[in-house]
Amino acid sequence: MRKLTESKIVLASHNAGKLREIGDLLRPFGIEVVSAGQLGFDEPEETESTFEGNARLKAHFAAKSSGLPALSDDSGLAVDALKGAPGVYTADWAETPNGRDFNLAMTRVWRELQEVDAAEPWTGAFHCTLCLAWPDGHDEVFAGRAEGHLTWPIRGTQGFGFDPMFVPKGHSVTFGEMPYETKAPISHRADAFRLFVSGCLTVE
Ligand code: IMP
Repeated sequence: MRKLTESKIVLASHNAGKLREIGDLLRPFGIEVVSAGQLGFDEPEETESTFEGNARLKAHFAAKSSGLPALSDDSGLAVDALKGAPGVYTADWAETPNGRDFNLAMTRVWRELQEVDAAEPWTGAFHCTLCLAWPDGHDEVFAGRAEGHLTWPIRGTQGFGFDPMFVPKGHSVTFGEMPYETKAPISHRADAFRLFVSGCLTVE
């Protein structure tokens, strides 16, 4: 596995929630982080059908555009009773002509659970695939997850995206009810990040 020896990387995301979580996770390693937004380039269209495919597409695009190693995150919610949906299409379920609406997206998940008459607990997991890509085309990929179940009505105003609907395993409150400091270390992103650290940042 290739180690990250460069001291500056690009975060290939425009999502403020992800940028905060990943930026905080990287800070202790003394790596300078700039975001794709700060460098002024767009995100490519996510045309792949897997988290890994989309993570690789975003990281390679940012690495080529910036000339720096780039770290991307492709994530989403997979609901067991919905055969893994919305999965890689998690963000799409929130799209409206006026921007993303996660209340609408969570309502759709709940409605589809009613339609298939899903028995509770409505189990599922948040998935996160991180990809670190270098400008020369090499990459490393890490997949993490946070298991739990969905609840309705939604609860909590913290976090982002589908957080108010998701109760992580071993907890009774949703990600949306948790302070950031409680969610961040148990999230799917933290899980993938641990693998990234041991693979690319830890020197034996
Ligand atoms: P993408 O990775 O940009 O394709 O989008 C992932 C989607 O999953 C976004 O719409 C996020 O809101 C949602 N998502 C990813 N991670 C989390 C999380 O930690 N909490 C809540 N929603 C998330």
